[in-house]
Amino acid sequence: MAARTGEEYLKGLQGQEREVWLRGERVKDVTRHPGLANGARAVAALYDMQHERTLRDEMTYVSPSTGDRVGLSFIIPRTREDLERRRVMMLHWARHSCGMMGRSPDFMNVTFAAWAGAAPYFAQSRPAFGENIERYYEYIREHDLTLTHALINLQRSRSGSGLNLEEGTALSVVRETDAGIVVRGARILATLGPLADEIAVYSPRVSQMARGHNPFALNFAIPCGTPGLKFVCRESFDLGGSHFDHPLGSRFEEMDCVVFFDDVLVPWERVFLLGDVDLINETGARTHSMAHSAHQGAAKNIAKCEFVLGVALLVAETLGNAHLAHSEERLAELMQHTELMKACTRAAEADAQLDEWGVMCPALLPIEMTRNLFMTAYPRMVEILQLLGSSSFMITPTEADFSGPLAPQLEQYLATDTTGARDRVKLFRLAWDIAGTSFGSRQVLYERFFAGDPLTRARVVSAIYPKDDVTERVRAFLRDDGEGLRTDRG
Ligand SMILES: Cc1cc2nc3c(=O)[nH]c(=O)nc-3n(C[C@H](O)[C@H](O)[C@H](O)COP(=O)(O)OP(=O)(O)OC[C@H]3O[C@@H](n4cnc5c(N)ncnc54)[C@H](O)[C@@H]3O)c2cc1C
Repeated sequence: MAARTGEEYLKGLQGQEREVWLRGERVKDVTRHPGLANGARAVAALYDMQHERTLRDEMTYVSPSTGDRVGLSFIIPRTREDLERRRVMMLHWARHSCGMMGRSPDFMNVTFAAWAGAAPYFAQSRPAFGENIERYYEYIREHDLTLTHALINLQRSRSGSGLNLEEGTALSVVRETDAGIVVRGARILATLGPLADEIAVYSPRVSQMARGHNPFALNFAIPCGTPGLKFVCRESFDLGGSHFDHPLGSRFEEMDCVVFFDDVLVPWERVFLLGDVDLINETGARTHSMAHSAHQGAAKNIAKCEFVLGVALLVAETLGNAHLAHSEERLAELMQHTELMKACTRAAEADAQLDEWGVMCPALLPIEMTRNLFMTAYPRMVEILQLLGSSSFMITPTEADFSGPLAPQLEQYLATDTTGARDRVKLFRLAWDIAGTSFGSRQVLYERFFAGDPLTRARVVSAIYPKDDVTERVRAFLRDDGEGLRTDRG
């Protein structure tokens, strides 16, 4: 097998029956359901990019085991150049969706590449787990599979430890058999769930398990069609409109799901860690998969910043307010976020180092900053768009209006000095899909929370920050009796 085409991806979804529920109905074919089909098409388009003549070399690399060309986000980076190549590839994908599909397949590909590169970490628990992770990684790479993941247990209350391990709700092992482990419970939030081939289940590093949590400490992956697995979708934010009316929602709906596991059998060869709370807690940090998934997120952030900035510039140009001082200030803020994302990503690549597994790892601090910064930067970017656009977001008749009886008046009254009416409305419908629709609001929520809640994320940064460097400088200043610092007044 080699890098898949879009058609092969869609056939793969059709070929694997899965239990997906949307608005009270079981979805027969996720590639044809009106709430999901355009999202599937968007992912298919990403796969097709791997075969575009001009992009092929930037999107794929030669598989070390088969010699076929496989997706570049699967590469286990060994050099800084590998990291840069991977970022270029991920940026092509992210730009294709304007940064609006955070869970394009590269998100999980880089995670499994990091884990396969650090296979001895898993072997510490049981030698078979090390072999399993390597074999599985090779399997998804060679078959170019799409993965979703669900890391969080459903919470009945926010007053506990934050681990949410309530009996009967949290996903746990109910028994072990010769064939594998049987798991029961619920997990959130499988973005892209109905449109994925496989689901990965593990724990985020930010939820630290403790002794006694062994039945909940899991890391495995199984096909989305595994019996007992149920995906419960939220409402679709693809509202069935045209690309004119809902330019983003009609293209990039990646869907989020709650996942129920009703006594699901996970074959032993798909188990990567089991019951070892210390290894589970440390997986992201010790294998550096957290740095690699942040690298994927950084590419998405860059694409998203560029896109929102581009829309904001056109909004200001269309309304003729670009020259006003407060518009310039706001646009400059968007430019700042864009350049900061690029700078952190570049710094993380430039300062990358080989880790203990021989994998080239992006520098942790700058790459983590791209995550934490974006949690507040993106909502602010959306706010800026709203401030720039004001009532024009509401002067947005639909495409149908432009073919109706009022079309001549719309053309007359809605034009601006720089832009015809139809182009103005088309642009503002796009801006509204970023700044106001259910699709746009979900993007804001996604950026606030997808990597964990802000408090926990802040604590992660605090934990990895080299504090001694700065405190020692201050201590040295305090130790100084002032001789070296004497001023004229001294
Ligand atoms: C659009 C979207 C897509 C996502 N996609 C995925 C995915 O694909 N895979 C996946 O595994 N996860 C996904 N997530 C889930 C994400 O990991 C969680 O949202 C995140 O970890 C926060 O958990 P929570 O939503 O349960 O927040 P909560 O724990 O409910 O937190 C809500 C708020 O309450 C605060 N809070 C909670 N408990 C306490 C406490 N004890 N003390 C003080 N404050 C508290 C939090 O800081 C936060 O501000 C997604 C989330 C979103 C919004």
